[in-house]
Amino acid sequence: MRYRGRDLGGEGRVHLVMESTLTARDRVGVQDFVLLENYTSEAAFIENLRRRFGENLIYTYIGSVLVSVNPNKDLEIYSKAHMERYRGVSFYEISPHIYAVSDNTYRAMRTERRDQCILISGESGAGKTEVSKKILQYYATTCPVTDHLSTLRDRLLQSNPVLEAFGNAKTLRNDNSSRFGKYMDVQFDFRGAPIGGHILNYLLEKSRVVHQNHGERNFHIFYQLLEGGEQDLLSKLGLERNAQKYQYLVKGCCPRVSSINDKNDWRTVRKALTVIGFHEDEVEDLLNIIASVLHLGNTQFGEGKNGENQITTEPQLKYLSKLLGVDGAALREALTHKKITAKGEEMISPLSFEQAVAARDALAKAVYGRTFTWLVVKINQSLAFKDDVYNSSKGSSSVIGLLDIYGFEVFQHNSFEQFCINYCNEKLQQLFIELTLKSEQEEYEAEGITWEPVKYFDNKIICDLVEGKHKGLISILDEECLRPGEPSDISFLEKLEDTLGGHAHFVTHKLSNGKTRKAVSREEFKLIHYAGEVNYSVNGFLDKNKDLLYRNLKEARLEFDEALVRHQVKYLGLMENLRVRRAGFAYRRHYETFLQRYKSLCPRTWPNWQGRLADGVATLVQHLGYKPEEYKLGKTKIFIRFPKTLFSTEDSLEAR
Ligand code: ADP
Ligand code: MG
Repeated sequence: MRYRGRDLGGEGRVHLVMESTLTARDRVGVQDFVLLENYTSEAAFIENLRRRFGENLIYTYIGSVLVSVNPNKDLEIYSKAHMERYRGVSFYEISPHIYAVSDNTYRAMRTERRDQCILISGESGAGKTEVSKKILQYYATTCPVTDHLSTLRDRLLQSNPVLEAFGNAKTLRNDNSSRFGKYMDVQFDFRGAPIGGHILNYLLEKSRVVHQNHGERNFHIFYQLLEGGEQDLLSKLGLERNAQKYQYLVKGCCPRVSSINDKNDWRTVRKALTVIGFHEDEVEDLLNIIASVLHLGNTQFGEGKNGENQITTEPQLKYLSKLLGVDGAALREALTHKKITAKGEEMISPLSFEQAVAARDALAKAVYGRTFTWLVVKINQSLAFKDDVYNSSKGSSSVIGLLDIYGFEVFQHNSFEQFCINYCNEKLQQLFIELTLKSEQEEYEAEGITWEPVKYFDNKIICDLVEGKHKGLISILDEECLRPGEPSDISFLEKLEDTLGGHAHFVTHKLSNGKTRKAVSREEFKLIHYAGEVNYSVNGFLDKNKDLLYRNLKEARLEFDEALVRHQVKYLGLMENLRVRRAGFAYRRHYETFLQRYKSLCPRTWPNWQGRLADGVATLVQHLGYKPEEYKLGKTKIFIRFPKTLFSTEDSLEAR
């Protein structure tokens, strides 16, 4: 296993969107947390979110990071007029919005000619996927397009309903929860027109195909097909228009969800498949597979005349062999027998009832998982940049990447899935801290500003612990999976203890004095992550690593209460981000731009400043009451630590 992100080290800029969930009403606070008086107080931080949320102000900055609170209702802030308002304006001069981040990223890509990335993180249901769609819509609406490119734009937008149909499901936390991670690249040409796209998918939760927790559903496509599919189609697939008839759809006991219209969604998905360029026979193949998964779920086993385990549901078998295009006898054998090699000879041995059920479910998961991968491959072919049809040189194009993955997770019980997710978040944190501090320091240096470097916790030590060659946790896991003999989860844990025992961020039940530590059980190891401590149970680590099967991600019922918000503020590392921001200069502007915007605030700079720009800016900020330690004058820009006065004058300036 390895981290499959684009390596942005030093190459491009990363923009972050962090999400949290909150429902409360109150007054407006500060629009950038760097202006928060009591900036080290988590309570003040949360209070500010609450106040703004009460006014439907769901976005707040921490410098260039956007914190977003899910309103869970449609706000009138995503119209075309809103998009226009954010085009080309300066980040701090208009209220925070995802469109400001989108526009800023786009302009940075064009002016710097460097690839950019927007990272979106937060807990399930926080609004990550919605925000990624809003960003795409912004580009689709505001970027220049020609007739030819409008096809691509439509395909980019239509890829979402398709991916969501096959990769999203209703969970306890979110009626439209993404059950896979997604990294999407949008490629732009030298004129800033979108010319291609690519999607990388991670860790589809395949276990959902065969099992759902109470109150949850299987992937949307199953219900869409049964509700929306034409009668002819269902007959051909051997399906009845009743989700309750299918074992794989009844476990969660909620075939219908008030916020979801499966029939309408089916139409949307069918149309989207056509826009993306799926041929009719490909759609047919796709639906055959979806139907076959349902038939697999209804395939039952029972005892035959001679006590043997056999398939007792013949109609299902008939449909399965037809839909999957495989020989019925071979399929029957595969579902009830296994091949083993003993003393060089191949033997067929019957499967027990439990083994047959497990084999059936494994087949259903594998079939669905591969279909999802195929779907992404097909979408990528359709979004691929085609040089022959578009006369542009590939070299001059740049990309904006959107990362929508699971956020940091800590449950009562954590296993391999949480380990992968948390490791990924650890890498993101490292990327964020490195790039934020690095770019800050570079800018101060270039402008000749002296400043004290900020002390921060560098989580490289934890990343190395996980990914280090030979001695890293993943290497040890991979080695144990390949080792001959009888490797087990416990032998893996022992190897970890031998190799990593004593590491400051790795803890097991063993204490160095031979005694045992109660806080960690004998089947667990604890990692001290940047975002907190997590105990991981090693049970299933080896199997899951071999299979990379993403088993049930149970979601704790982690509605709003303040503890939930606090939890996210903490685990998203928001306070840490704020401290980093506060240590530097929250506001910087080129002298000319600054004077132009604020000159009306001072009689000596209004209507025009005659003289050196830097002197004009100095005159202006002194007039505004800034003390010498509150700002610095660089070679081309003014840097202000907390530009309070400026923000409070924004409204009056806007009104002029
Ligand atoms: P995540 O991807 O973080 O799990 P989603 O993006 O799927 O969460 O959001 C969950 C639900 O919350 C959405 O289906 C939508 O109903 C609501 N939602 C999220 N963001 C917004 C928003 N900006 N405005 C209105 N509703 C939203
Ligand atoms: Mg999502």
